[in-house]
Amino acid sequence: MTPLAQELVRLIRDEGPLSVSRYMALCLGHPRHGYYMKQDPFGAAGDFTTAPEISQVFGELIGLWAATVWRMMGEPAALRLVELGPGRGTLMQDVLRAGKLVPGFRAALSVHLVETSPVLRERQAESLAAAGATAIWHERVQDALDGPAIVIANEFLDALPLDQFVLTPEGWRERLVGLDGEGRLAFGLSGEAESALARAAPQGAVLEQPLAALETVAIVARHVAGEGGAALFVDYGSPRSGFGDTLQAMRRHGFVDPLAEPGDADLTVHVDFARMAQAALAAGAAAHGPATQRDFLLALGLEQRIEALTRRATPEQAAALSAGAARLAETGTTAMGELFKVLALADPRLSLLPGFDLHRLPEQG
Ligand code: SAH
Repeated sequence: MTPLAQELVRLIRDEGPLSVSRYMALCLGHPRHGYYMKQDPFGAAGDFTTAPEISQVFGELIGLWAATVWRMMGEPAALRLVELGPGRGTLMQDVLRAGKLVPGFRAALSVHLVETSPVLRERQAESLAAAGATAIWHERVQDALDGPAIVIANEFLDALPLDQFVLTPEGWRERLVGLDGEGRLAFGLSGEAESALARAAPQGAVLEQPLAALETVAIVARHVAGEGGAALFVDYGSPRSGFGDTLQAMRRHGFVDPLAEPGDADLTVHVDFARMAQAALAAGAAAHGPATQRDFLLALGLEQRIEALTRRATPEQAAALSAGAARLAETGTTAMGELFKVLALADPRLSLLPGFDLHRLPEQG
C-alpha cells in the first residue's frame, strides 16, 4: 500500500466513503503524498509525456497565437499572460521565445502561473529564467486574473476533480470510494439516490459532474469577456457530452487501476468540451471550437514552421522536428492529433481567432 492509501483507509474508517472528487483531489494534491506535490512526473523517465514536451513547435505556435490575439485586442500596453498548470514550464518558455518575433509583445507581458506544486514551481522558475523571464505564482485561477489577459492551459482541466453518479433502478446514486471486506480501497455507491439529477439514460450509465473544471472555465470566461482577452484550453476529451466513466490512472506510460497506487499514479478524466463551451457562453464569453489539436496546429502553420526550422537544422535535428510534429498532429482515434481538442474562449468583441479560421499569423522565419 502506498503511504497515501494507508492514510485514505484511516480517513474512510473515521469518516466514511469519499466522493470521487475528494479522492482525486487527495491523490493529486495531498500536501505530502499528492502525485503532483512530491515529484516531476513528465518525460521519458516519468509517467507521461505532454505536447510541449514532445515538440517546441507546440508552444511556439501558441506563442504566435497569443501575440496575434494581443494585436487583435489593439496591443494593450499591459497584458497578463496566465498559464494554468504549467508542468515543467516548457510551454511558457516556448511561448515567450516565439513571442519575441512580434514587436512590442514581450514588453507588454507579465507572466502569471497558477500552480499548486512546490516541486513544479521550482522547475517552472528554471524554465522561465532560461527564457529571460520571471513569473508570479498563484494558488487559484481567480487570483491570477487582473486586467487584459491571455490564458493558456494544456492538460489542466483533466486534472481537476469531478464527481460521478451511476443510474440504478432507484435513481442516480453517487459513486464513492470506500473499503472492501479486506479493508482495501473499492468503489461503491451511495445509499441514497440524488433527486436533483433527472437525466434520461440507460441503466448503469455513469454521469460525470466536472464542477471544478466548469467553475474554472466560468471564471476565465467572465474575466476575458469583461476585461478583454482570450483563453486556450487544450485537453483530451470529446466535443459532445455523453455518459461514461473516464477516470483513468497512468504510471510509467501505461494505464493502471485508479485505486491501486493513490499518490503514485497520475489520475485524469476526459474533458467534456460541450459543457465547457456552454459554461463559457453562460459567463458572457464567445467560444471558438473545439477544434482537434491537428486542425488547430495545421491552421496555425505547423508545416511551414517545421519547414523553416528544418532549413537551419542538422539532419538529426530535422528528423526529430518532423517526428515531433507528426506526433502532435497524428490522426486516428487514439492519436494525439484527434484525441486532443482545443477550445478558445474570448471577449466577444474579438472575432475570428487564429487557429479556428483562416486568420493569418505573422510571417514566421
Ligand atoms: N501543462 C503542462 C502540465 C500538465 S500536468 C504540460 O502540458 O506539460 C497538470 C499540471 O497542473 C501540473 O503542473 C500540476 O501540478 C497542475 N495542477 C494540477 N491540479 C492543480 C490545481 N488544482 N491547481 C493548480 N495547478 C494544478
